Amino acid sequence: MATEKIGQQVEGGFTDAARVWRGVLDLLRTRVRREGFETWLSVTSVRSMDGSGIEIEVPNGFFADWIAQHYATDIRAALQEVTNQDLAISFVARDALKETGGIRQRESRLRPPAVRPEPFRLQARYSFENFVVGESNRFAFAAAQSVAERPGQRFNPLFIYGGVGLGKTHLLQAIGNYALGAKRVTRVHYTPAEALFTELIQAIASDTRLDFKNKYRNLDLLLLDDIHYLVGKERLQEEVFHIFNHLHAAGSQVVFTSDRPPKDLPNLEERLVSRLGSGLVVDIQPPDLETRMAILKRKAACEQAELPEDVAYLIATRIKHSVRALEGALIRLLAVSSLAGKPLTVAMAEQALKDLIRVERPTDHNRIIAVVAEQFGISPQELRGTSRTKQFVLARQVAMFLMRTKLNLSLKEIGGYFGGKDHTTVMHALEKVERLRAKDTNFAARLQKVCEALNGG
Ligand code: ADP
Ligand code: MG
Repeated sequence: MATEKIGQQVEGGFTDAARVWRGVLDLLRTRVRREGFETWLSVTSVRSMDGSGIEIEVPNGFFADWIAQHYATDIRAALQEVTNQDLAISFVARDALKETGGIRQRESRLRPPAVRPEPFRLQARYSFENFVVGESNRFAFAAAQSVAERPGQRFNPLFIYGGVGLGKTHLLQAIGNYALGAKRVTRVHYTPAEALFTELIQAIASDTRLDFKNKYRNLDLLLLDDIHYLVGKERLQEEVFHIFNHLHAAGSQVVFTSDRPPKDLPNLEERLVSRLGSGLVVDIQPPDLETRMAILKRKAACEQAELPEDVAYLIATRIKHSVRALEGALIRLLAVSSLAGKPLTVAMAEQALKDLIRVERPTDHNRIIAVVAEQFGISPQELRGTSRTKQFVLARQVAMFLMRTKLNLSLKEIGGYFGGKDHTTVMHALEKVERLRAKDTNFAARLQKVCEALNGG
């Protein structure tokens, strides 16, 4: 009996640890730059966790050093959010474990891993079966299924748009998984637009443009995620335009996702906009209460965890705007309950969700103005005013950008909050911020800080 109990605990403990780490990675994915995440963090896994600390497996000693130097603060913060505890974090090199049967060994620092990021893979968990369908996403789901069933034949391109964390990447990858599994296609490629950009730059720098071209032209199905990233990158737009034309002419399917519809992508080349919208354009809206409950239940079942109805209801009524946030809250509650060794109750959930609710506090335009003004060290009046001082202008542009990306406001609405500026001014602001973010790492870090303040404050 006793041994069985211990066995269960160990097994249960491992599942909890894996779940916690997945929660941490989910948070980090939205907080650190994507290239960095894919290169350094996506390849980590959890080795053990107990009340005092967590041990993370990384490929080798170089990774351990790099991650500790560059991501320790982010990881600590995310871990704290997920577990509600201050756990010690240590990194263990996987190769050293293999060679020495568990004894830690540092690798020479001299040889860094290849800079080229790992190719993105389709993740099996992003399937149609795992996608909960409700009013908010029914049409997008049906379109995605239809395209997966008959790639290249009906809706080409399919363009899926919607806010952050609403299931765009999930549907996109589900199309790939299904089409591959059902042998509708053989050559599938999934990539976020940002990674495509890096790849293009590398191809130009290393004079391998032909390889790049061939790679993207010999596909049955191209899944291009987050193409709002194309804004302000003319070269990339041009390349995507040609890739699309080529694939389309060859009868291959292309699916795009974006945080807004094609016509709202500021300063995108007209011919590209018309291509993007030439097939079927579908949107995903935030899920209604019923769907949120269903998602929580499905997720808890996947985790083989007990989720009482009243707790599910509590989470679903508190967290509304993003499925990712919903999942994050659930993972956190499961972690808190398992670390405390107590079943999940409404009281426990209330307590554990308290600061999370603060994080999820709906952001409105006033809050964006207040936070941006504070971060730029100016007053909200100055931010909304008409002064052309460089610092004021930049702050104003950042605020416009955040209203667009966080609140999905129309250009006209945004202009309205700044003394009735017309939509071309707003468009220019969005484009400028996108552009700065892409090429100026200081600015990108600053923007990131503003976003954090917006989430946390
Ligand atoms: P987006 O790409 O729109 O930002 P994701 O596709 O990454 O959002 O979704 C965020 C998380 O929420 C993922 O873990 C995804 O599996 C989950 N998710 C989103 N929508 C649903 C849904 N309808 N049913 C189940 N899980 C969902
Ligand atoms: Mg996504």
